[in-house]
This record gives sequence, C-alpha cells and structure tokens, in this order.
Amino acid sequence: MNDNNVCCVNLKWYHFNQNNPGGSWDIDDKIDKNVFIQAHSHYEANGLAQDIGIYFDGVENGLDCRCCGNRWTHAYDEIDYLPLNGINVKIYPYGSIKN
Ligand SMILES: [Zn+2]
Repeated sequence: MNDNNVCCVNLKWYHFNQNNPGGSWDIDDKIDKNVFIQAHSHYEANGLAQDIGIYFDGVENGLDCRCCGNRWTHAYDEIDYLPLNGINVKIYPYGSIKN
C-alpha cells in the first residue's frame, strides 16, 4: 500500500439533517434538508460540510433562534446505509467537495 491508496480506505457516510429554526429552510444548489457526506472521520465530514455552507452553533452565534435551536448539528456517528435517492437530499461522495 502506498499513500495513494490511503484516501480510499475507511470512508464512511455522515448525515446532516437540517432543522428549520423560525420555520425556514436553507436550500440552495449545494445544501438541502438532508445532506450526506462521505469522509474518513466525523471531523473531516464536519469540515467539508462547512465548505458547502452548513454552519454549526447557530444559536450561540445569533444565526438561529433559541426557541427552535440550531439549524445544523455536528455529525458524530457514521450512518449504516446511504439512501439511494430522495427528495430534498444532497449526496457528496468523497472528493466531490472542492474548497
Ligand atoms: Zn424559534
């Protein structure tokens, strides 16, 4: 094995499920109600999420209302399966997010 192979092992999927504080959704060409990102770790997935416009700690930073809570939360655990398709879903295989 060489360094070129390292990127292909141990990839997992992480799910970012959008809350709708204030009753509004953030939906554009990059993000939707459900975003799935493939990465080596939840740390990497959370960083990639931020590259496409997902933000964390929205209440603390004054972006989201306190009554409804944060729009997005950090991913911690990988998911067991990836939905093949769906409404309001964006799927990012590893390497498809460029910063
Ligand atoms: Zn609210």
